[in-house]
Amino acid sequence: MSQPCRHYEVVSQLVEKAAIAMQLDPQVKELLREPMRTLTVSIPVKMDDHTVKVFKAFRCQHNNVLGPFKGGIRFHHQADEDEVKSLAALMTYKCALVGLPFGGAKGGVLCDPSQLSAGELERLSRGFVRAIAPIIGPDQDIPAPDMNTNAKIMGWFVDEFAQVRGVYQPGVVTGKPVALGGSQGRTEATGRGIMYVTREAATAFGLELKGATAAIQGFGNVGSYAAKFLYDEGCKIIAVTDIFGGVYDPSGIDPYQLKEHELKTGSVRGFTGTSPISSQELLALKCDILIPAALGNQLTAENAGDVKCEWVVEAANGPTTPEADEILQRKGILVIPDILANAGGVTVSYFEWVQNNYSYYWSEEEVDQRLEKVMADAFDEVYETYLSGEGTTLRVAAYMVALQRLAKAMEARGWVTT
Ligand code: GLU
Repeated sequence: MSQPCRHYEVVSQLVEKAAIAMQLDPQVKELLREPMRTLTVSIPVKMDDHTVKVFKAFRCQHNNVLGPFKGGIRFHHQADEDEVKSLAALMTYKCALVGLPFGGAKGGVLCDPSQLSAGELERLSRGFVRAIAPIIGPDQDIPAPDMNTNAKIMGWFVDEFAQVRGVYQPGVVTGKPVALGGSQGRTEATGRGIMYVTREAATAFGLELKGATAAIQGFGNVGSYAAKFLYDEGCKIIAVTDIFGGVYDPSGIDPYQLKEHELKTGSVRGFTGTSPISSQELLALKCDILIPAALGNQLTAENAGDVKCEWVVEAANGPTTPEADEILQRKGILVIPDILANAGGVTVSYFEWVQNNYSYYWSEEEVDQRLEKVMADAFDEVYETYLSGEGTTLRVAAYMVALQRLAKAMEARGWVTT
């Protein structure tokens, strides 16, 4: 569904709501109003047919009061400047909310990766790093994977950065292959974090996860691991969609077998024992937990009225428009906001950066235990703020917690007058 480009404005509205509820110092709001820097670059790539093609790309650094900028790089044909700016801002609030010593950033390369050969993808990735090398570094700005990027691409990033700067610094990028100093558990981290937060929420709001039904839009890195971890907790995954189509089985789908099917055939479509379902039908399914784990702006004013789940757990960044958010609230549907629900990825990115700084590596159990604690603490803080009545929704409460941390740091650094 095509949406007007108003991503950044939407995040600003979310901040405004929380700012009003907590009577935020207007100076803090002013400092967060615009990103600190957005770099636009043109990346020339020699294509396999010997022609040169130039790709447009962005790195937006929203705010760094809490520490070096941090955030993923997305390869997508819709990753325009406005979207990248909004995603960078979400990173500022996400890192602040879970208490990481990072600011917020995001990168976007306008391309359709499915149309690129392996060689073209590598040349584009390396070209992007060369273009943004002057503004990134382990203490400046640390990229990571996001939509359509992965550990392999992060490996090229680290290598290219080493060639440009003449020093090998693994901490310049997170989400790397383990062979290059990547962290155990990073690939699974966002999906695992979704499960930890959902489990905390289930205890707080009294939902029995065993037997709870879940529908998941998107079966990429985030959606597929979220499905597996929730399935391991006893949830019944009744529907899954990807960009090609979807599958539905009210008696439950085994996400491990579904992944094998997807790896073999390229899509979840046609998985044994299921019937087809569209993305829009999935969003309107009657279920306990609806998990948008794909693109932004999926729940809108047009379709939110049809949503019949008990909870929406936002695994994607920005899947719910403000209009849809209000409709869901009126319907009594609980929304666990993106900056809380999907913070597991950047949290393990932080662990990876710490391990790189120390050159001392942790076991997967250690990583998972620490992740569980960060996610549970973040949930508790949001939940307490929510209960205190100041925040009307978990989203407003989450922004209040994040803004509080940002305001304190701005005050301590002397960015605002007191
Ligand atoms: N792309 C992920 C996110 O949106 C992770 C970012 C990171 O690890 O820096 O949170």
